Formats: sequence, structure tokens, C-alpha cells
Amino acid sequence: KLHNELQELKGNIRVYCRIRPFLGGQKEKQTVIEYIGENGELVVVNPSKQGKEGRRSFKFNTVYSPASAQAQVYSDIQPLVQSVLDGYNVCIFAYGQTGSGKTYTMTGPDGASEEDWGVNYRALNDLFRISQMRESTFKYEIKVQMMEIYNEQVRDLLSSDANGLAVPEASMFPVNGTADVLDLMDKGLRNRAKGSTAMNERSSRSHSIVTIHVQGKDIKNGSSMHSSLHLVDLAGSERVDRSEVTGDRLKEAQHINKSLSALGDVISALAQKNAHIPYRNSKLTQVLQASLGGQAKTLMFVQLNPEIGSYSETMSTLKFAERAS
Ligand code: ADP
Ligand code: MG
Repeated sequence: KLHNELQELKGNIRVYCRIRPFLGGQKEKQTVIEYIGENGELVVVNPSKQGKEGRRSFKFNTVYSPASAQAQVYSDIQPLVQSVLDGYNVCIFAYGQTGSGKTYTMTGPDGASEEDWGVNYRALNDLFRISQMRESTFKYEIKVQMMEIYNEQVRDLLSSDANGLAVPEASMFPVNGTADVLDLMDKGLRNRAKGSTAMNERSSRSHSIVTIHVQGKDIKNGSSMHSSLHLVDLAGSERVDRSEVTGDRLKEAQHINKSLSALGDVISALAQKNAHIPYRNSKLTQVLQASLGGQAKTLMFVQLNPEIGSYSETMSTLKFAERAS
């Protein structure tokens, strides 16, 4: 049975869908998304088509209601996070248009209390906690990197003076407890903000990657392993009208488009078990290569904005997600 479970996990891609709730003060509460939940099902209703024709059903491994709590989401992915301590490489990323809840899922809301912590804090904290529980049999070292990819350039978020560096050079910091976790995350987020005056604007147009490296040594037989967990808050997937943007904005849009489609191509090649996986087509897929494919496990959060006005972006997000299964 265990063998079967491991077979199933191998190279497996899971897709979890999360619907953002309507935000406080938002008057219009009409939505195009019908949350069904059972068997991971979701129905999207085309606002300009009546009856059956306007309804499309999608299936995921899991779909969360807009009311789902951060702790609930984390408890579902906890086994995946924990498997990093057993030597698996894991990649968890959030995909969706700007405003759909990617950062909420991965980091949490601004100034989050522990209850609102997103996946990043919880995963790092959890790995640290479990590694301590295993102290008598395993010696673990946990280190963290934080990077941003903007216009195909990698920037180290934990160093004060880095720009456009090669990935392996990004600074790596050891984590020895919750206080370290909080310090590092804060530092990374502050550096991310420093990169530009309009932080929110820019952060939605760059990919942010937290990488947790785990080095483990079996105390009894001396064997060792190294694995990593990539936690990725992708740039907003919204399509930009080429007739309306020029210059820097157009360049940004082209870079985002290129890297998200490269990611889509990799995921779809993996889902189809193709022999050739096109990792080389973007910085993003190069950075994530070790945690996509092979023995690695991948989980995608598909983030949806419930508003009617987002119908076409919702459909294009769901089409991206469909390629993964
Ligand atoms: P994105 O990173 O995709 O641009 P955000 O994570 O910034 O989107 O979310 C947009 C807004 O919606 C933020 O104010 C965020 O706090 C809020 N939000 C997103 N998801 C949820 C959720 N599940 N519950 C409550 N508020 C949420
Ligand atoms: Mg965001």
C-alpha cells in the first residue's frame, strides 16, 4: 500500500483552487463562481449566456470555499511540506490575476497575526518544529533564500546590495526558530518594497520565491540528504491590452507572459509525462527546475476573484490550470 502511495505521489501535480471572498465594503456581491466543493468541483457561469450553455464545470484535487481559513488550507498541504524532511523536493505556487489572493495564501494579509499566517510562515515554522522532534535520529540544517524575478532578472531579497545575480549566489540564512522565520520574512518583504516606490504595483509584476533548503543527516548510519521547498507567489496573470501599454509596462507584460507560459509548458509536459521538459525557456522555470518533475512534488493554488467583472480572467486562469491535469 505504501508503495502505491509513493508511486502516486511521484512526479505528481496537484491543483487546489481557492476562491477569494468578497472584501469588506464591496457592494456588488454577484459572482460568476458557484462553489460546489464536492469532489473538488466548481461551476463558472458566463454572465452573458443563459441556461446550461453558459455553465462550465471544472475539477480540482480540492476546492476551497471563500470562507476557508488559513489553518485549514495549510493542514491539507502539511504532508507535502513534511515530505521535504524525508528528502523530497517540493514546489508550491500560487497562480491567478492580481487581487485574487495569491499573496494572502502564500504570505497572509499585511501585518498578519499568527492565525492569518500564510503558507510560507507555516511551512518554515513547521519544518523547524518537526526537525526538532526528530533530533535524536536526524540532524537537520534549515536555510532560507528569498528572491524576486522581475523582467527575467533575479534579485536577492535577503541581501542589501544585490542585483541581477546568479541564482546559486543568493544569500542563504540558517533558521533556528520562529523568531528567525519572522525576521527573515520581514527582511525579504522590506527589501522587496525598497526596490520600487509603488510596492504593490511592482510586486504584482514580479515573481517572489522563498526557497527552504534542508540538509539532513541520519545519526545512526551517517547517510545524508539535501532537499528543497520552493514557495512561489507568481506575478499577476492578467492579460495586458497591447494597444494600451507601451515602454516599460509593455516590456514587463511581455516578460510575465513569457515566464508564465514557460511555466505552463513545463507543467503540461510533466502532466503528459513527456520525455522532454522545456525548463530552459525562462528564468522562473530554471530556478524551479529541481522542484518540478522527476521525484519532485508540485502543488498549484489556482486563485480566483469571485466578481462578475473578472469572468474572462477567471476563465483564462482555469484554462491554465486545466493544462496541469
Ligand atoms: P494577489 O496577491 O493575488 O494580488 P492579494 O493576496 O493581495 O491578491 O489579495 C487581494 C485582497 O484580498 C487583499 O486585501 C487580501 O487581504 C484579500 N484576500 C485575499 N484572499 C483572501 C481570503 N481568503 N480571505 C480574506 N481576504 C482575502
Ligand atoms: Mg500579491
